[in-house]
Amino acid sequence: MKRVAIAGAAGRMGKTLIEAVYGHEQLELAVATARADDHEVLGRDASLLAGLPPGNVVVADSLESRVDDFDVLIDFTTPEATLGHLAVCLAAERGIVIGTTGFSDSQKRQIRDAAKKIPIVLAPNFSVGVNLVCKLLAEAARVLGDEVDIEIIEAHHRFKKDAPSGTALRMGEVVAGALGRDLQEVAVYGREGMDEERDRQTIGFATIRAGDVVGEHTVLFAGMGERVEITHKASNRMTFARGAVRAAAWLEGRSPGLYDMEDVLAL
Ligand code: NAP
Repeated sequence: MKRVAIAGAAGRMGKTLIEAVYGHEQLELAVATARADDHEVLGRDASLLAGLPPGNVVVADSLESRVDDFDVLIDFTTPEATLGHLAVCLAAERGIVIGTTGFSDSQKRQIRDAAKKIPIVLAPNFSVGVNLVCKLLAEAARVLGDEVDIEIIEAHHRFKKDAPSGTALRMGEVVAGALGRDLQEVAVYGREGMDEERDRQTIGFATIRAGDVVGEHTVLFAGMGERVEITHKASNRMTFARGAVRAAAWLEGRSPGLYDMEDVLAL
């Protein structure tokens, strides 16, 4: 069995990940961590925290002190926390599955650098459906080309911190790439105060934050007389957790490198 550490064990994804590892054929939960000052959670049984029967892993306050106890880390926390965990994994040569979103360009560079020494799976969305949708988007963009206006609309729960979502940005990169555009140059994140017609080359983003929406993304290809909408709706966080756990199992024995979910799914 491969020993898994889960960072952010008390978080929405942390708890779902503990549940997804439970009973897995190849993986066992070995370490669970929470923020060092999260006294409500530290020392508690990680399985109970996730609503499972009692287990033998208690929530620890640091990954570094438990580095000999795990083979691969799954991290869905915050960009700052993930980079701290990345340094621990780099020093100990452990693989890492990163689901955290909202990294800056320089933080992404640090992840790319670390991937020269350890295997890393980094994906803004671990659901199989979203990764399939990205393939469909590339095809749609190639066929519809410059004839259509492209807008990306995403909705998430009220607690989500980064906007637009990492998945929406990834979808933007896929569509822009298929059309030979650079997303940095064509992305429009808000139109307030703009006093001009839509520039045909732009790719617009709209963000909704409300209630308990797990995650919804629609890419709109709108022409004169017809429009194509490609939508993905996640109804349960387990879809992301299963994908991340699948990635952790896949990481076993991989060479150092930066992989994404398309590699894991061989799409
Ligand atoms: P969340 O409920 O806020 O969970 C994050 C957890 O990490 C919190 O419990 C937080 O503790 C904890 N944390 C912060 N710093 C830590 C540290 N240094 N060590 C250990 N734990 C630490 O958020 P979430 O909804 O689970 O989402 C987490 C991240 O995953 C976000 O970036 C989100 O966008 C991303 N996400 C990605 C996917 C995907 O498929 N890639 C899917 C869903 C979510 P405190 O609350 O005490 O600060």
